[in-house]
Amino acid sequence: MVSHAYIHIPFCSHKCDFCDFAAFAGLDHLTGEYEQAVLKEMEDRLIALKDKRGDLEENRLRSIFFGGGTPGLVEPDVLGAMLEKLRSHIQPAQDVEITIETTPHAITRDKLVRWQELGINRISIGVESFLDEELKAMGRDHTRKEAFHGLELACESGVEVVALDLMYGLPTQTVASFAESLACATDFAGGYKNLLHVSAYGLHLADNSPLYSRFPRGAEAYPPDNTYVQMFEVLVETLEDAGFEHYEVSNFSRPGKQSRHNLAYWMNAEYLAFGVSAHRYLDGVRSSNWRSLKRYMRDPLGDETVEVIDEQTRCREAIMLGLRLRRGIDLSAFAAEHGFDLTERFCAEIEQFCAAGLMDRAEGRLFLTRKGVPVSNSVIAAFF
Ligand code: SF4
Repeated sequence: MVSHAYIHIPFCSHKCDFCDFAAFAGLDHLTGEYEQAVLKEMEDRLIALKDKRGDLEENRLRSIFFGGGTPGLVEPDVLGAMLEKLRSHIQPAQDVEITIETTPHAITRDKLVRWQELGINRISIGVESFLDEELKAMGRDHTRKEAFHGLELACESGVEVVALDLMYGLPTQTVASFAESLACATDFAGGYKNLLHVSAYGLHLADNSPLYSRFPRGAEAYPPDNTYVQMFEVLVETLEDAGFEHYEVSNFSRPGKQSRHNLAYWMNAEYLAFGVSAHRYLDGVRSSNWRSLKRYMRDPLGDETVEVIDEQTRCREAIMLGLRLRRGIDLSAFAAEHGFDLTERFCAEIEQFCAAGLMDRAEGRLFLTRKGVPVSNSVIAAFF
């Protein structure tokens, strides 16, 4: 049973200097052509899935995610047509989570009404920072004022979940300025009961990132490693104090309001995916669509990459993704799935990390401690 679907909408009002996604500015005139390509891809792929798995009558989608790009930028009817096509083949569950990603300045009252009419019940807003100088430094095209306005509109619309995305490790950012952005986030969460989710990702730049032309690699403007760790500590402390649960390295939510869609990725579940550069995981194969927009629109069923996920990779992913979740790895489920006891195979590593206070075991689970989370990458690397 496949319960999750991702739809990529690649249009943006501006290409941010740090962005490595399939996201394109100034191509909005291609929206209609793109919509047709996605609808064709959906039709063909879903018919093929039905042929392979039999009738999808019993299948229910538990999450649908419009990611991008800026899906909030396109006419809501475009999203409506895609949802309709999906529903014509696979029914959503009664309580399906439908997320739309957007920039704050793409949000309008009219769109909020239409999104909710379409069943969208989760709005994920890329604020990144509440400080104008940081937004400018990272090459965003919105301001602090627009961030507040977009968030207010979304929260006041009464949509079930508003999710706020921040970033840290930005050029010109300090621990104090990041704390200021976090304070804005918690103030909002105090004022609006539907601000239920906060993500904060550390800045990660591709080798040829345009941001390097303004802030070359190693420039003083980037926070040094120890500051980066301090930012992470302030992040966890501030959001936990405000009543958010830290459920994944970079994600926090009010109790029970985790992102169902992202949890599916982290639990290694199957998911459908449509649109340029979209990645799917089905029948033990991870594949992605063409990354070039033109190529995708000419050939929406073509693959840019295909990777058969063998048992060794599945096992590595289960360890990596499981340890990123604060609840950690369920050791007996892991043994049942992969055929060996993780704590026996990695006995020395686990003992060493537990002794250093970076890892712990309780109630049949292995997990990183709060001290271990900021260094999760190096702890996880020791398992490979
Ligand atoms: S708005 Fe998001 S997807 Fe678009 S260019 Fe900026 S970071 Fe990339």
